[in-house]
Amino acid sequence: MPPCGLGGRLPPTLAALARGTELPTLRSSRGQKLPAALATGQSSRSARWGHNGKRPLASLFVATLLKLNLRDGSRLDIAVERGWFVDPDLVRIDGEIDLGGYVAIGGLVDAHAHFGADGVRSMIDSPPEDDLAALRARATAQLEAGVLTVADKGGKTDEHLALLAEPLTDVPNLHMAGAMMASPGGYYPNFGLKVEPQDLSTAVADRCATPASWVKIVGDWPRREVGVLENFDGATLARAVEVAHAAGRKVAIHTMGRDAPSSAVAAGVDSVEHGLFLTEADLETLGARGGHWVPTVVAMEYTMNSLRAGSTGARVIGEGLENVARLLPLAEEAGVVLLTGTDLAVAHGEVAREAVRLVEYGLSSRRAFEAITRRSAFDAVTGLVPGMAADLVLVGADPVDHIETLLHAKGVLRNGRWVKRP
Ligand SMILES: [Zn+2]
Repeated sequence: MPPCGLGGRLPPTLAALARGTELPTLRSSRGQKLPAALATGQSSRSARWGHNGKRPLASLFVATLLKLNLRDGSRLDIAVERGWFVDPDLVRIDGEIDLGGYVAIGGLVDAHAHFGADGVRSMIDSPPEDDLAALRARATAQLEAGVLTVADKGGKTDEHLALLAEPLTDVPNLHMAGAMMASPGGYYPNFGLKVEPQDLSTAVADRCATPASWVKIVGDWPRREVGVLENFDGATLARAVEVAHAAGRKVAIHTMGRDAPSSAVAAGVDSVEHGLFLTEADLETLGARGGHWVPTVVAMEYTMNSLRAGSTGARVIGEGLENVARLLPLAEEAGVVLLTGTDLAVAHGEVAREAVRLVEYGLSSRRAFEAITRRSAFDAVTGLVPGMAADLVLVGADPVDHIETLLHAKGVLRNGRWVKRP
């Protein structure tokens, strides 16, 4: 299955440049036009060939030069042509924009969102979201905040997958799970698919017929008077993961209880959602295959605070969050890809609040910054280098020194188009 979003594709113009050939036309395969905001930048370099006065390889390509200030204090001059970063020496520069007053970063990632709703209660209580306008508004909110890669970890139905048909400039890079799967009684009623354990592999195979690139399994759930129980045993999960992987899909598992994390990790899942009771041994196993962990501490605190203080549920989540605080600094050493996610506890676009909270939990701000900017966990074509999609976010200060600066993006460029002008 081809990856969603921009995974791995070189734009046709750049592919031609790499081969040393000129394309017969300038139209990109996606039909993007040079954005007006860029095309009308100060044109001090118009009619000059190449950034350094050298004749470019493909003289037909006209690009805008962005002068950027990077986090380490260094400067970067990079050109934008039809939604892609290109080497300024390979194109005709027609206009430049000095963005040196900001710090440029490559964009944020929300690795646990749900486009199907605006908040936890609305997700649970409301009918399935089939309003494309609402889905688009949530995607726009993410973009305007600088969130340029979003993993949707599932919905009540598959309806939010409609976003996959939107133009790339209008949505973040999307990595979506469709309707979630749980055993009967193993999740909110009337939510997602209820699957008997012996039917899980078949249900996963059915899921793989949708355009969703992820499969979401609810691994455990509290039962009244009993506590949190696993929905599926380890062998059942392992078979389900095998089916999903054979179809090129990745598997994310929801777990807040004590037992499911270890069976899910042993079963080969790609991403652990919440994972309050992961163990150090689980981190080693998950990290050995570069697996993801999205602890969503803000969402877990939200859930805990919505329960009666002193109740069993609130106590268990509290213990779990203490375990998370202990494990956070160990994840990186183990090779685990630690990621930030909103999970409806905060509004679409507010994933920076999770990064801020992770620092308050004791994670170093460098690690928290990596967790919120690790778009490469999902997308091959990201980064402030030629050949990558022209995505960038401008912030007011170095986020490693001031993580809260990520809460207020000053400018957002998405595929060469200003979503938010600096
Ligand atoms: Zn969730």
